Amino acid sequence: MLSDELLKILACPKCKGHLDYIKDKEKLVCNGCRETYRIENDIPIMLIDEAEKF
Ligand SMILES: [Zn+2]
Repeated sequence: MLSDELLKILACPKCKGHLDYIKDKEKLVCNGCRETYRIENDIPIMLIDEAEKF
């Protein structure tokens, strides 16, 4: 699980916007870009190339 401090500083690498943390899916979601970023071993993969559209 990600800490609140980490969540506060995380931003979408594409638009620098707010990310929503989907705890049960271990994903970060940018509603602006409609991209999801996965989290592996508590490390968010903040790479545009690794993002998935939804
Ligand atoms: Zn974005």
